[in-house]
Amino acid sequence: MSFDQNQNLSSVFELIADLLELLDENQFKISAYRNSARIFQSLTKPVEDLLFSGELKNITGIGKASIEKAKEYISTGKISYLEELTKLVPLGLLDLLKIKGLGPKKVKLLWKNLNITSLGELEYACKENRLILLKGFGEKTQTNVLNHIEFLKKGSGKFLINKIFFEQSKFEEFLKSLKNIYLFSPIGINRRFFEVYDSINYLISSNNHNNLVNNFKNYFNEINYSNGKISAKLNNIVFNIYLTDDKSFYSNLFIKTGNENFLDNIKKYLKIKNIKINNELFLQNEKVINFKNEYDIFQILDLPFIRPELRDYPNFDEMLKYDNLEKRIEYSDLKGALHIHTTYSDGYNSIEEMVKNALERGFEYIGICDHSQSAFYANGLNKERIFQQFSEIDTIQKKYPKIKILKGIESDISKDGSLDYPDDVLNKFDFVIASIHSNFNLNYEDMTKRLVNAAQNKYTTIIGHPTGRLLLSRDSYKFDWDRLIQACKENNTALELNSDEHRLDVPYEKITNIVKNKVKIAINSDAHNISSLDNLHYGIAMVNKAIIEKDDILNTLSYKDFIKSINKHH
Ligand SMILES: [Zn+2]
Ligand SMILES: [Zn+2]
Repeated sequence: MSFDQNQNLSSVFELIADLLELLDENQFKISAYRNSARIFQSLTKPVEDLLFSGELKNITGIGKASIEKAKEYISTGKISYLEELTKLVPLGLLDLLKIKGLGPKKVKLLWKNLNITSLGELEYACKENRLILLKGFGEKTQTNVLNHIEFLKKGSGKFLINKIFFEQSKFEEFLKSLKNIYLFSPIGINRRFFEVYDSINYLISSNNHNNLVNNFKNYFNEINYSNGKISAKLNNIVFNIYLTDDKSFYSNLFIKTGNENFLDNIKKYLKIKNIKINNELFLQNEKVINFKNEYDIFQILDLPFIRPELRDYPNFDEMLKYDNLEKRIEYSDLKGALHIHTTYSDGYNSIEEMVKNALERGFEYIGICDHSQSAFYANGLNKERIFQQFSEIDTIQKKYPKIKILKGIESDISKDGSLDYPDDVLNKFDFVIASIHSNFNLNYEDMTKRLVNAAQNKYTTIIGHPTGRLLLSRDSYKFDWDRLIQACKENNTALELNSDEHRLDVPYEKITNIVKNKVKIAINSDAHNISSLDNLHYGIAMVNKAIIEKDDILNTLSYKDFIKSINKHH
């Protein structure tokens, strides 16, 4: 997505400024890079477009040198000046700069005074309480640094679901182009789905393994083959590819899909049928059983087919009490696209472009939800602009009678749990998504009350991204889930499954309990441009990890039923 590029460029310029600061360079030069970084981040168009149209040089604050470097970055993905600078400082300092709350001044102190040049050394120094003694550092900084190192350690070499989906579909296109491949499938968490991945894993059957390995040499950056397993690397992602033949494919697939707990539970059923597993093959009376598909494996064990996503469900016996363990929720089950931003706040596409796109994707209704007035950083809507948007929606609605356009808002939840407008404004919306975007560090009790208050508000239709987590970068805030679910249940408020790859929030582990309590889940894209309506695929992958029926999802309802369902008689 092109806005990622603005963000990336901004980070690269910040890094140049940081390095210059570590190297005691001239302050004017440093400020110039920081300034450009800020501007790149706040641009409302992709920097690439502005470069091509020549508009970039008319923006005050971006000098010639910055434009040249932006050009170099966009055409080559790197900036040679930055590469020169990184050679002048110990490499580990770059990792230190990524720690929130440190910044170049503090990193320089650590480097010059304590001779710390790597994360490992810094962690050790914290545990020895050596930071507290340094000027400008306190116990709080030291604790923050330690927490952040912990976080970085967890996140290194990990990838979000959008990158994995993208690489998998590219890889599958390639596989389909090869002649000597019959069957292939992702395995492990690439088949069961997760929020975060450290590799891509596949099982492939072929009658000529060596030939296949040769074909792969054109695809991967690095490749290594031994004992039926290929280890390869592409765009920094490790691929583990297991080779097999058609006869063993489904037995291998079943076992390599996992997870371990699931396979442990399966053992009981194998025993009843006197079946053994050896080398990922099923044996009955010392004879190998070959399966034509994975369904046959479940059938021979007298079990219902359990969709791969659900094989992570922690309680196997409880799971078997439910129906519909096979059927997945599909993209086409969603009738409404509900959490949609536009150029009115921080979206990239206009209302009409978003409406047109949703219609083309087959949605029956769309809910426009820009940010509310407190979200000044996202150009949130004041009262006047809300009514301006309403009248634009009315005009567009006439032009597109085949899709219903709902007038919504993503209202900030204030510290005390109130919404961002008075009732006489709130009652004008068709529906309201209430989300937390600030004051993340309230204590457990205050955060619980805040969310409960928001869920009890008679204008709240859906609580947006309920935990506030950002995968690989920010933990959830803590609150009492049971009390939030109870408040949602009593007030007919739904909970969002925000499908943005950074969020996937509510976490899938909570979903079964939520719907058991008759609280509906809204699978929302939080789209800020037309292509991010694709995000819904990620949310759907997650929702299928829970025991859930189509009716548990708010936006699988037809327009009429949706309107009926969200009515709180206000
Ligand atoms: Zn939000
Ligand atoms: Zn949003």
